[in-house]
Amino acid sequence: MKIVCYGDPALRRKAVPIKEITPEIRELAKEMLRVMYEADGVGLAAEQVGRTEAICVIDVPRESQEPYAAQHAGIEMPMVLINPVVSELEGTQRGSEGCLSFPKIHGEVTRALSCRVDYTGLDGQHYSVKTYGLLARAVQHETDHLNGVVFIDKLSSTQTLILKGRIAKLARQTKQQMAVEEAIAEGKPVPQRGKGGRWITPPGAAGHAPQEAKTPPAGDAS
Ligand SMILES: [Zn+2]
Repeated sequence: MKIVCYGDPALRRKAVPIKEITPEIRELAKEMLRVMYEADGVGLAAEQVGRTEAICVIDVPRESQEPYAAQHAGIEMPMVLINPVVSELEGTQRGSEGCLSFPKIHGEVTRALSCRVDYTGLDGQHYSVKTYGLLARAVQHETDHLNGVVFIDKLSSTQTLILKGRIAKLARQTKQQMAVEEAIAEGKPVPQRGKGGRWITPPGAAGHAPQEAKTPPAGDAS
């Protein structure tokens, strides 16, 4: 299991509700937690590992929950949220946000300061908890993923303008990577990097990589 990056259509898929907590779902949750910790993240949704089950995992450390840790006293970390539904969005918070599917890209996103989330736990019990601050931000971010929404959809127009080049570059790289993986899987000629880092698709190679991909725009340091 690996994290898919922006440019992969998996991130735009809507999750399908989970009807039963099978051993496969338990295994999926366990794997998602492992991948999230390995990547040093605080949340991960099924779409980010190329799946469509309505499940996400969150682990916001207690110290990062301040000044709201007391309000979260009854919430145990990590959280495994099955079929989560967000409601009671209240107040606003503005802050820098990132996503494991957008390596090294951060942008300011305004979110509700608090929200309620109803979900089923891995134990099959129904939970309804009120979250605040960073935890509320994580809940909103991860449940967005389950609806095919990613954080760059919520950037201000100024932030979008600033990050546009880097986001486009990431999408290009992801598509090229997918073309390489597809070619390898199908035993076809693998797209190669040509002069100046341009990607050249050999005749008969998988169709994702453009014949001659554009070089990144000047001044894009990433
Ligand atoms: Zn994310």
